[in-house]
Amino acid sequence: MKWYNMKHEEVEHKTNASLSDGLTDKNVKKRISTYGLNKLKEAEKASALATFLAQFKDFMVLVLLAATLISGLIGEMLDAVTIMGIVFLNAILGFVQERKAEKSLDALKELSAPQMNVLRNREWVKVLSSEIVPGDYVKISAGDRVGADLRLISVSGLRIDEASLTGESVPTHKHEHAIEYTDVSLGDQENMAFMGTMVTQGSGTGIVVATGMKTEMGKIAHLLQGTTNVVTPLQRRLEQLGKTLIAVALLLTALVVGIGVIQGHDVQTMFISGVSLAVAAIPEGLPAIVTVALALGVQRMIKRRGIVRKLPAVETLGCASVICSDKTGTLTQNKMTVKELWTASEHVTVTGNGFETEGQFKEQELIVVPNKKPTVSRLLSYGVLCNNATLVEKEVREKRKKKTTLVLDGDPTEGALLLSALKAGYSQEGLQGQFNRIQEFPFDSGRKMMTVVVKDKQGQSYVITKGAPDVVLAHCERIQKGTLDDILTGTERKQVNAIVDSMASKALRTIAIAYRPLKVGETCKTTTEAESNLTLIGIQGMIDPPREEAKQAIQECREAGIKTIMITGDHKITAAAIAKELTILPEGGLVIDGKTLDTLSVEELENRVEDIYVYARVSPEHKLKIVQALQKRDHIVAMTGDGVNDAPAIKAANIGIAMGITGTDVAKEASELVLADDNFLTIKEAIKEGRNIYENIRKFIRYMLASNVGEILVMLFAMILGMPLPLVAIQILWINLVTDGLPAIALGMDQAEGDVMKRKPRKQNESVFARGLGWKIISRGIMIGVVTIAAFALTYNNNPEQLILAQTVAFLTLVMAQLIHVFDCRSEYSIYHRNLFENKYLVGAVFISVLLMIAVIYVPQLQPIFHTVPLGLQEWLLVMGMAAIPTVVLGGFQLFKKQDVRTAQ
Ligand code: ATP
Repeated sequence: MKWYNMKHEEVEHKTNASLSDGLTDKNVKKRISTYGLNKLKEAEKASALATFLAQFKDFMVLVLLAATLISGLIGEMLDAVTIMGIVFLNAILGFVQERKAEKSLDALKELSAPQMNVLRNREWVKVLSSEIVPGDYVKISAGDRVGADLRLISVSGLRIDEASLTGESVPTHKHEHAIEYTDVSLGDQENMAFMGTMVTQGSGTGIVVATGMKTEMGKIAHLLQGTTNVVTPLQRRLEQLGKTLIAVALLLTALVVGIGVIQGHDVQTMFISGVSLAVAAIPEGLPAIVTVALALGVQRMIKRRGIVRKLPAVETLGCASVICSDKTGTLTQNKMTVKELWTASEHVTVTGNGFETEGQFKEQELIVVPNKKPTVSRLLSYGVLCNNATLVEKEVREKRKKKTTLVLDGDPTEGALLLSALKAGYSQEGLQGQFNRIQEFPFDSGRKMMTVVVKDKQGQSYVITKGAPDVVLAHCERIQKGTLDDILTGTERKQVNAIVDSMASKALRTIAIAYRPLKVGETCKTTTEAESNLTLIGIQGMIDPPREEAKQAIQECREAGIKTIMITGDHKITAAAIAKELTILPEGGLVIDGKTLDTLSVEELENRVEDIYVYARVSPEHKLKIVQALQKRDHIVAMTGDGVNDAPAIKAANIGIAMGITGTDVAKEASELVLADDNFLTIKEAIKEGRNIYENIRKFIRYMLASNVGEILVMLFAMILGMPLPLVAIQILWINLVTDGLPAIALGMDQAEGDVMKRKPRKQNESVFARGLGWKIISRGIMIGVVTIAAFALTYNNNPEQLILAQTVAFLTLVMAQLIHVFDCRSEYSIYHRNLFENKYLVGAVFISVLLMIAVIYVPQLQPIFHTVPLGLQEWLLVMGMAAIPTVVLGGFQLFKKQDVRTAQ
């Protein structure tokens, strides 16, 4: 007998599940050890050894190793061993960087791993899908990706898209009844839900019957696609650039070797020096270093609660020019409190803030007893009956004392209705004891209403609808006045609208509640049947305060040339009031609603889109149009969303952003960035980090390439001027290790420059060398080369006996010039524009590099290896004076030059 043939009790019995209590932790542990984690097998990743060996696959490194081997055989044993040692150290450094990047990217994947709602130890909790075991009792609802194979126990309008498993593109209607037939195909197993499929509508519960590779998905998947390394556009461009640079480096090296040989240098020495120079000058680490910078930046974003799902998004973030943000919960606190009640007979205010359960009802400053006012008491109690939220008492520890507080489980809008009723003494349990819910038509942000059918103890049934007042009002024919229902006249409709507008202008979110008694035997099959001919009871107006930090973040975005747009299902006037408070809506800025949006084509919207700051009463479907119009205007759009219907807009946006707390799996999977705290501030932080990561990559490139240009030029100048070699092969390789190693990594961890959020967004196709970077690299490279050769020439003074001393001076000058230059690279302007000690890693890295240099010069055992001699004070003064020139002199020019004016204003 298959799962789909079994009755509920049989499934429960066979899987040893408990629909009332769920599994215990002990039980889960045991099952995990029997069945394993609920994961599909992944393709093997590259082993540590393979990653390490890959560091040697670079062609020039192989040539160097071969050349060293030959020179070792010829007799230069010490040189050969040292070169090998340095190459080995370099490989270790590359390996560590790569592993670190990999690890942090793996951690990222885990952070965005899917979760499931499961009954454990008598409580509904969210756990990682990988920890689900057979026998678990789980809940699924619209927007979820089913995390295991389930036999359904209850459903409510459940439809599942099983295309990923069966290829069937129309979502299947599900039911919970046992199927009698045998050999039923997967697509027809309507009482089952399968791993990897997507819930498109409704909700349901089910018992897990298979996990991991035992699921239907596991049977066909065999191996989940291996973790392919995503290459970002910048990485691709840099790979391309790297190839050009290799060609240039090889050409220049060949030139150095050629001229050297013509000038009478020994061929073998020139060959080894040339190969070492090529290894040092070729920016082989460029793409890898970008990965490191991306990975480090992504880690910093996680600390600020932004989880990047797709690496290329990090680059796009820095280019964002518009953020389209949901209002509720992202720009506001989503802590709703009812402040005003209106019915045809009363208009009362309600006191008490947040989660307070006590409050007074006042009419023109006089306290009223809501239960004595028939319209108010119905408005409050029906708000509780047409409601899916619950208030649960939870024990919390505060200052070592246990305290019970009320916690909301469900939608904050509905929570506010529960609390306003509680203040009047209507508890949820009390009302549920008097009314039985028979049917529910869930809230959806397209319809903007929710409806239930309830039956009281006398057998009388009622339809109760709550929703956006303009929508509900359109379905009302009557209005409650005192204890009577009356025809709703045109004047009264206008009056209701005026009340809603006046509440909305105080930034209140409004909910209308209406009802209809059902005739005996009358049933409602569809929403149209249920939500018609209603009697309006009244309006509840609730406040949802803006997030305090959002205002500041919006201001910062504006300074950064990024426009914030509010998109909300809420009333136009409420939205405008909050948008004004948050400074999103400027004087003369437009607010348009969904209805107007419907009448505009994408092209028409495109013409007006720059002036629109708030989209109100929109459905998720409208978002796509907004994204398209903005993109036609060449905007790089960040768009937030949480529901299933938000997914197309999230996908279409340049940066799709999903809510971590309220977001569905569908929205998250479509997104590039997930906000762990649903907070607008996190978007701003992520954009700032995105900009910073890009700047850090530029700093890296600037530093590395200027160093390489310097190294090549020293050798080239010497050869052209007919001088001896200013640097020996080992010194060149050592410079490459010391300078391209720690200091370069530390640049990747650099803090953002003060004005990074005061510049305009970067154009997406901007070259890495834009904004004068190319010139900076070349001019610094030339300066470094010139001062090094000058220091060499001054010390050498045409005296062959001074050669080793002069080489040591050149060696140290080159390194010191680079180590000073690294601080310069931190700023778009000059070394004087930033605090030298701000980046502690960089200070540490430079300190270690200097110590290493001192060691190779002064430790007697190292001197023969590195061909050095100890330097005296005079040489040190020469070295430091020369090394400081490029940065101090060129930096000084920058000080006098007017600052690059790239600010947004
Ligand atoms: P956003 O999250 O996009 O800022 P929103 O949360 O304000 O928008 P929706 O959730 O689509 O937008 O709500 C639109 C309107 O529907 C609200 O203004 C309110 O009047 C009504 N509404 C919201 N929640 C419910 C609910 N649970 N039941 C009935 N009506 C609701």
